[in-house]
Amino acid sequence: MKQSIVVLDLEGVLVPEIWIAVAEKTSIPDLRLTTRDIPDYDVLMRGRLKILDERGLKLADIQEVIGTLSPLPGGAEFLAELRSLTQVIILSDTFEEFAKPLMRQLGWPSILCHRLDITSEGRIAGYRLRQPDQKRKATHALKQLNYQVIAAGDSFNDTTMLAEADHGFLFHAPDNIRKQFPQFKALDAYGDLLKEIKERL
Ligand SMILES: [Mg+2]
Repeated sequence: MKQSIVVLDLEGVLVPEIWIAVAEKTSIPDLRLTTRDIPDYDVLMRGRLKILDERGLKLADIQEVIGTLSPLPGGAEFLAELRSLTQVIILSDTFEEFAKPLMRQLGWPSILCHRLDITSEGRIAGYRLRQPDQKRKATHALKQLNYQVIAAGDSFNDTTMLAEADHGFLFHAPDNIRKQFPQFKALDAYGDLLKEIKERL
């Protein structure tokens, strides 16, 4: 039987939605929109950065908010147990600059994500996707390395990863995603996801 590797989405699966937390802290409701609401990630990100610019919010302001976030209840424990069983890589559409405070709390797991363009004044001028559709491409690359890939995520931007994986699960997914993607088993408890993964290792 093939060796296995697990790829996990970050926000909504292990940690809260970063932009929703930023929206609450800054009292800017339009920052609450996520890939659950706007599937086109570029449209979503351009809108977010425009709002930050209009309000004069810089990278340090956003990092301060992220520093107050904790993993979802049970998330760090789930990840620690999973990493004791098999290899895990987090595939996220967040940015290195945003992920760091959360990665510390998760015990520095491996993460593949993107990077922001920051000016010398600390303004977020833009973002650079390392590559488009990176979650699916990373999953495909791991399969090329002769791994069986097990994937879990909660949003539109995870569905190509789930389809590419040998086994894909929705986790903490809202109803509209579950209905649109009934081919992926939907789970809500870390214990259930762990059980499904264990059965496939
Ligand atoms: Mg997510």
